[in-house]
Amino acid sequence: MSATRWSPTARTTVVGVIGDPVAHSLSPLLHNTAFAALGLDWVSVGFHVGSNRGTAAVSGMRVLGIAGLSVTMPHKESVVADCDRLSAVAARLDAVNCLVTEKTSIVGHNTDGAGLLASLARSCGFDAAGARCAVVGAGGAARAVVLALAGAGAEEVVVVNRTSENARRAAALAGAKGRVGVASDIAACDLVVNATPAGMGETALAGSTPSLHFEDLHAGQVVADLVYYPRETPLLAAAREAGATAVGGLGMLVHQAALQLAIWTHEEPPLEELWRAAEAATGE
Ligand code: NAP
Repeated sequence: MSATRWSPTARTTVVGVIGDPVAHSLSPLLHNTAFAALGLDWVSVGFHVGSNRGTAAVSGMRVLGIAGLSVTMPHKESVVADCDRLSAVAARLDAVNCLVTEKTSIVGHNTDGAGLLASLARSCGFDAAGARCAVVGAGGAARAVVLALAGAGAEEVVVVNRTSENARRAAALAGAKGRVGVASDIAACDLVVNATPAGMGETALAGSTPSLHFEDLHAGQVVADLVYYPRETPLLAAAREAGATAVGGLGMLVHQAALQLAIWTHEEPPLEELWRAAEAATGE
């Protein structure tokens, strides 16, 4: 007996991801994996939205009754102004990675920082409370991580970045716990997070980035790379070699998506299925 194949109808709830580029995005795969596992009549697709078309896309979301959108580059900051309300975290960051339709309103959320904390907890039991943390980079992902680490009770959040003005803005998100640091501060930290694209795809840099020297890594540290393609980055390899605990970026991708799915569907996200789908899509 053959299983009945699900296909969308006029009643299907539609969500998606907006970005430029968007064809590489794993978000629809993760969303559709969850919908299948939960038995929901929902579908997720990618929408290629050029850099000056974010506002039009949010208007389209209202008109078409799209239930939720993941938001990726270059729209995370620009569509904030198009939201009717923001979560406290999104308001603090002035950036969203998730929109949800609530009755007639569009609400913006940011699940990136909470996604990293969940990934660290799941992969190695890391708890930021009382920890000294270094965040390398000061862009959108770094800012979300700085705010989340401070919110989770980190003892100190040191931002190390090649452009000092950006580092100052990011460190300020941690209030009194935040400061701008230099590469040599990393050796004294319990957690080191790479929130730069160094190590990504064909641009992989072996040995160091301008802000992080691999020889400073050591046993007892947790070293997290937000880069997830390739899964094994030069930084993760160096961390393992030094005896540190290495955590790849795929976990953050899975958990920030799981948090978005929970916001949209109010269901418990199927984490094991999401992990399997993400690993299969990025497997070497
Ligand atoms: P972004 O806003 O463009 O910020 C990039 C930051 O990295 C900037 O602070 C920049 O420094 C710094 N940087 C860039 N190239 C560098 C290099 N070669 N050496 C040293 N510093 C460098 O990017 P983003 O959105 O924050 O994303 C950062 C990384 O995180 C990307 O690889 C992205 O794919 C990844 N990410 C992963 C997830 C996940 O779920 N795993 C989620 C979000 C982002 P300046 O300030 O000096 O320009």
